[in-house]
Amino acid sequence: MKKSYILPLLCFVVIYGVLSTVTIGFGFFGTEYGAKTTPGQPETKRYTVTLLHEGKTQTLPLEEYLYGVVAGEMPASFETEALKAQAVAARTYTVNRSRYPNKDHPEANVCSQSSHCKAYLTPAELEEKFQNNPDGLQHIKQAVDATKNQIAVYNGEPISAVFHSTSSGMTENARDVWGGDLPYLVSVVSEGESASPRYTETKAFSFEEFSQKINNGERKVTFSDNPQTWFSGWEKNETGSVKSVSLCGVPFKGTELRTLLGLRSTHFEITISDHIAITTKGNGHGVGMSQYGANDMAKKGYTYDQILKKYYTGIELSAIDDV
Ligand SMILES: [Zn+2]
Repeated sequence: MKKSYILPLLCFVVIYGVLSTVTIGFGFFGTEYGAKTTPGQPETKRYTVTLLHEGKTQTLPLEEYLYGVVAGEMPASFETEALKAQAVAARTYTVNRSRYPNKDHPEANVCSQSSHCKAYLTPAELEEKFQNNPDGLQHIKQAVDATKNQIAVYNGEPISAVFHSTSSGMTENARDVWGGDLPYLVSVVSEGESASPRYTETKAFSFEEFSQKINNGERKVTFSDNPQTWFSGWEKNETGSVKSVSLCGVPFKGTELRTLLGLRSTHFEITISDHIAITTKGNGHGVGMSQYGANDMAKKGYTYDQILKKYYTGIELSAIDDV
C-alpha cells in the first residue's frame, strides 16, 4: 500500500468507529461484525435489535428477528409480494421504534407483545409452527431475505409503518385514530378485504351487558329505561367509521367504544331490538397497510414496493444505511 493512502484510511477507520459507537450509544440498532468484516466493507454490516421477550432482554440480528415477526403477523400462505411488503413494513417499524427509548421498556428496542410492539415467534416456535409446513417457513424467510435492509422512508426518515389485518374498504387517517397527523398515514381505498375471515362480525349485547361494559370505563353513564334513546349525535369520519357518538348525553370516541366493547374496528353500525347488535367491518385500527388488501394487490400482480407506496402515501424505499 502506498504511504499516501494510509492517513486517509486511518481517518476513515477512526471516524467510522466513532460513528458506530455514537449510534449504539443512542439506542439505535447495534451492529455486529463478522470475521471478514472491515470498516471499508459496510455491506457486510449486520444490524441487531434488542428484544424484550417473556421478561428477558436479548439481542439478535435484525433479519433473524424479522423471520419471527413476519411469521407471527402474516399467514405464510399469503402471496410472495404481500409477504415482502410485510417484511419491509415490519423492518421499518422496528427501525423507527429503535430511534428513541421506548417509555414502557427502555431496556429494549421492541417487545414481543403484538398489542404493544409486534408479534414475534422464536426459532423454536417457528420450528413447531411449521413442522408440517417447511415450505411456508421458507416462503417467509425468502420474503425477508429478498428485501434485506430495505425500509420505507418519508422525507428521508423511517416511517411509523403501522399495519392491520383488514380494513373496512378504506384505511383510516392516523389523526382520526390516534390524534397525530402523519402525512403518509392517510386514508386510501383498499380492495379485496372481504376475503378476510374477519371482514365482518356482529356482536350481540343484552342491555345490561352493554351498560356494564360501558361503565367499566373511566366515565360513567346513567342509562335511561328506553334503549332506543341511548344513542345520539353520531359523527363519522370520511371513511364511514365512527368518530364519536353520545350515550345518554355522554360523548364517546369510536376508538373508546371499540376498546370498551371489544369490537374488531371502529367501523360499526348498531341495531336495537330486544338487545343491541353491533356489526363491524374490518379488523384492527385500520391505519397504514391492510394485510388482506396487500394480499389482494399481490394477487392482481402488484409488487411489494407498489403495495407499500399505496398504503403509505408519498414514501420511498431506502437502505437502512442511507438514513
Ligand atoms: Zn413493546
